[in-house]
Amino acid sequence: MTSPALDTLFTWIRTESPTHDVAGVNLMMDLVVGQMADAPVAVERVQGEQGLGDALILRAGPQTDEPAILILSHLDTVHPVGTIEKDLPLRIEGDRLYGPGVYDMKASAWYCLEAFKEVARKGTAARPLIYLVTPDEEIGSPMTRPIIENFARRTAYTLVTEPGRDGGKVVTARKGVGRFDVRVEGRPAHAGSRHAHGRNAVYEAARQILAIEAMTDYARGITTTVGMVSGGTAVNTIPQHCSFPVDLRVETVADGEALARAILGLKPQDPDFKITVTGGMNRPPYECTEGTAKLFEHAKSLAAEIGFDLVSAPRVGGGSDGNFTAALGVPTLDGIGIDGDGAHTLHEYGLISSIAPRQELVKRLLETLR
Ligand SMILES: [Zn+2]
Repeated sequence: MTSPALDTLFTWIRTESPTHDVAGVNLMMDLVVGQMADAPVAVERVQGEQGLGDALILRAGPQTDEPAILILSHLDTVHPVGTIEKDLPLRIEGDRLYGPGVYDMKASAWYCLEAFKEVARKGTAARPLIYLVTPDEEIGSPMTRPIIENFARRTAYTLVTEPGRDGGKVVTARKGVGRFDVRVEGRPAHAGSRHAHGRNAVYEAARQILAIEAMTDYARGITTTVGMVSGGTAVNTIPQHCSFPVDLRVETVADGEALARAILGLKPQDPDFKITVTGGMNRPPYECTEGTAKLFEHAKSLAAEIGFDLVSAPRVGGGSDGNFTAALGVPTLDGIGIDGDGAHTLHEYGLISSIAPRQELVKRLLETLR
């Protein structure tokens, strides 16, 4: 990589942009607008809503009604502002570039945008190109999901620039993700003088958690996780309230529906308790269809011409915006971002040497996906 290119990427990483930091996310969007300034790219800025930053819709290539190639990148990260100062300083160690959001997914967004710009300049796009740059992927894309789905309906292929997995493997299937909130209400009482009168909401929640965890079925690729619990007000008071969120992962649409029904239908194990469950499937499963398999094979042959072996990862648990496009039947190739490791952690890094070949791959995909 040339050093001006690395300098630009450094600026991106120094611009910290956790999802809820509207100013930081919008500065990132400004950087993208600047990046496109000298290219034949139409830039549309969609103002943020729901306390989120702006999104960008970039258009290039032939101006026809033909179904487009849709590219998706997010510029929000999970790292709070200040992470770069203390916990994850921007630095290069050998081939590794460390910094908040470098792997998920600033380096990837940057080089995929460079590839997009190059194709726009040369006028070599195989189809109309639509590049969506989003501010809210890390919280499940509440603002941009309708925008993504709207474009996906008029799209021939979708490329998602999430990071490569385990040595740069691309992604052709992901589990679906469900999120639920369970609230248990019991009856408060003094733990000493009125114990028999109380109905302990924490106790009832514990029984419900056992039932929810028992829904995990590794053979079917179903997992349920209760990762946080809050309840009670004092050590000597029988708690009236307890609540906890549930994370659900499934491989098929049918399992998503069945498990959502089971979780939403949880009943108290004792009629003196009240249970309220809200939530549902957040991202539908991304199943590897025939179209996606063909798209992967095409990318694999391009990678071979460039000089590297493109491998597809086994189905992964984390959801992405690719779940939305795949669920609409659009052939979707995800994980074309940088190789590296440590997404969402303080040892997050990307491999600098993976940038050039993968940028070339994206460029050729945009030129050849007919
Ligand atoms: Zn990501």
